[in-house]
Amino acid sequence: MGRWGWRLFEGDQDLDVACTVVDSLGVDTDSWEHSLSAMVHQTDMLAPPEAAAFYSTSEYADKLANEIIPWVRQKLDTDNLGERLFAASRAKETDNLFQDSKYRTIILGALMIRAGARINAADLKHLRDLAPQINCTSRQMTLGDHGFRTPGKAQFLAALDHCQPGVARSFQEPSCFKCGKIEEDIGHKPLQCKKCKVATYCSKDCQRDQWREHRVSCIPPSQCRMLNV
Ligand SMILES: [Zn+2]
Ligand SMILES: [Zn+2]
Repeated sequence: MGRWGWRLFEGDQDLDVACTVVDSLGVDTDSWEHSLSAMVHQTDMLAPPEAAAFYSTSEYADKLANEIIPWVRQKLDTDNLGERLFAASRAKETDNLFQDSKYRTIILGALMIRAGARINAADLKHLRDLAPQINCTSRQMTLGDHGFRTPGKAQFLAALDHCQPGVARSFQEPSCFKCGKIEEDIGHKPLQCKKCKVATYCSKDCQRDQWREHRVSCIPPSQCRMLNV
């Protein structure tokens, strides 16, 4: 288990859920599990250097935007697959240990939003209702690393508010650690925390409001000894 960032898909837990979510719901995903994970994998700091270098090329960005994501979206939108996946995931939410089964529905929602797939109004409402029930921490957890980290939750809620069918929303773009908005939502690039150069904010107000939570993880790059936060 590892975690190299605070946002969605910046830890093994989210990636594991993402990679198994569709599989565990009984859909044959051999051919497209790779594409699903490709949508969320590029921030993996533990990836081999060649892979990390490839993720940062414009060639990969083009392939992701023009091939992989539209392909996954089309899969999810065909025969209401996305809707059926939600139904199956929601039916399994009674298993409440560490809220893992509920968090799986959240990650499914995040993947659908990432792909720009259609989500019906009832499922959107369910995701909104579910988010406050999931554990959320802004501290480094060595044990019990379940659920959201603070900026990940904000990212998810902002993504729910702004999601549109047919529009892919990246969770890798800089997003406000307080309200989760990205450049497209606010019309300018989020500001970077001058001290840690990790946290980003849409405004000084959001930065100020989040400081008490952020200060425990605000470590200058020169003092970061470990790869995982
Ligand atoms: Zn903000
Ligand atoms: Zn900081």
